Amino acid sequence: MDKDALVFVAGHRGLVGSALVRRLERDGYQKLVTRSRQELDLTDQLAVDRFFRETHPDYVFLAAARVGGILANDSFPADFIRDNLLIQTNVIDAAYRNGTRKLLFLGSSCIYPRLAEQPIREDCLLTGPLEKTNEAYAVAKIAGVKMCEAYRRQYGFNAITLQPTNLYGPNDNFDLNSSHVLPALLRKFHEARQQSNPQVVVWGTGKPRREFLHVDDLADAALFLMNSYDAAEMVNVGTGEDLTIGELANLAREVTGYSGEIVYDTSRPDGTPRKLLDVSRLFGLGWRPKIGLREGMQSTYEWFLANETAAV
Ligand code: GDP
Repeated sequence: MDKDALVFVAGHRGLVGSALVRRLERDGYQKLVTRSRQELDLTDQLAVDRFFRETHPDYVFLAAARVGGILANDSFPADFIRDNLLIQTNVIDAAYRNGTRKLLFLGSSCIYPRLAEQPIREDCLLTGPLEKTNEAYAVAKIAGVKMCEAYRRQYGFNAITLQPTNLYGPNDNFDLNSSHVLPALLRKFHEARQQSNPQVVVWGTGKPRREFLHVDDLADAALFLMNSYDAAEMVNVGTGEDLTIGELANLAREVTGYSGEIVYDTSRPDGTPRKLLDVSRLFGLGWRPKIGLREGMQSTYEWFLANETAAV
């Protein structure tokens, strides 16, 4: 990407999109295009077509999506499948039709089969049943991956796809009903310490294993691949290391300085038992994450403290 290329970051207010904008600005990209949801509804095909016809972005980072944690996914499957199918279909097709040179699509590690062999290689996509709690979201994301592959094969459109592991960082969602586990735990322990609550409730058994990547590392990988990778094969983006939810809870307790007890609510779902990505393709290209989990949680907690009123 030339520094004066027109770069559209779709979803720039979200966790991923805002990290991409921070990074692109820092690296001196001068022509960033963003649109808020009020300005451009990405589920509206006519509006998206008009925007691309008028703007003609050279590069597109498709970071706009309806996302959420296990409870939100399990409760609103129709919203998750509908909005994501619409957003990605509209943006990918309009980008191709209006001369975008390259598009980067973000999928998710939940697109892989529930009981995929660990660590999960890219080629195990569509080899087994999905995890039920986020099946609707996963099916939409799989459609996006396949749409990018199809547009590359039929039209020669340069669309690449990344499968990030669980992400966290500034601008994360800290709402306890819709957030993912890491911001939820930071907030729960923080509030328990403030209110001197003797216990914090963690959902499930604490035994599932998850991998976490700071969103600034994801932005770093996305720019690296936008600038150097032009193949149909999707690329997993993670750290290659995971831990149990129980271990994550202990880390959140330390980071927030809480000294009470952790209790597990086993009436809540565990979700998939493990999703550790095989990152050998990405590491083979020469990329490595830079932000360790403790350090990343610490800085995310500091962000939360500074933005608490806005974040909750
Ligand atoms: P998942 O990776 O798609 O399952 O999404 P989440 O990040 O929402 O959940 C990951 C794991 O953390 C699941 O096993 C949850 O049951 C567990 N978990 C424990 N406490 C919480 C919590 O307060 N919020 C969320 N979202 N998950 C929690």
